[in-house]
Amino acid sequence: MTHVATTLRLPQVDHPAETVWLFDLDNTLYPASCNLFHQVDARMAAFIAGELTITEDEARLLQKHFYRTYGTTLRGLMVEHNLPADRFLEFVHAIDVTPVPPSPALDAALGALHGRKLIFTNGSIRHAENVLDRLGVAHRFDAIFDIVAANYVPKPDPAPYHEVVRQYGFAPALACMIEDLPRNLVPGAGRAARLTSACGVPMVGAAQFLATVTTP
Ligand SMILES: [Mg+2]
Repeated sequence: MTHVATTLRLPQVDHPAETVWLFDLDNTLYPASCNLFHQVDARMAAFIAGELTITEDEARLLQKHFYRTYGTTLRGLMVEHNLPADRFLEFVHAIDVTPVPPSPALDAALGALHGRKLIFTNGSIRHAENVLDRLGVAHRFDAIFDIVAANYVPKPDPAPYHEVVRQYGFAPALACMIEDLPRNLVPGAGRAARLTSACGVPMVGAAQFLATVTTP
């Protein structure tokens, strides 16, 4: 593995030391090719099948319905079946994170980035800690804002964006978000336009970010 640290090409900010960097976790701090979601997805189906006593095929259909209707499988399970979130999160995130390669390059890049750095994820704290430990960059982050801190309302709903701004007390104009899913950050279309105008957080795609951190 030959990952080499390169210069970060993130948006120019006027006050680097005051900037709050909001990093998504999955498929943002590591490449999507690690395919951790495949493991999580399979465990979600197994969890639903076990809890509701249905087949895994039926569970997968339900999962799709939950995702389309509520934004996450967890929210659907909470709303429609009143299932406890903590047990779900513990079960689905008990995955093997070794497909994620340790990244000294990412560690160096984050170390060179001034300002506060927060993880802003639709996953759980435990999952974030597992992934950050594997990457070797946990010490670079000031805090993890997870789906529990977001009152179980996932991105791209505007609510968690407002909540992270409120909890950590920063001006949205001083923040910058790095995220892989366009629907969570691209201004100019649908819900994303509403939330960026609501929060005023400048944003950048994860692919652009990762491409500058790791070079083959
Ligand atoms: Mg992501």
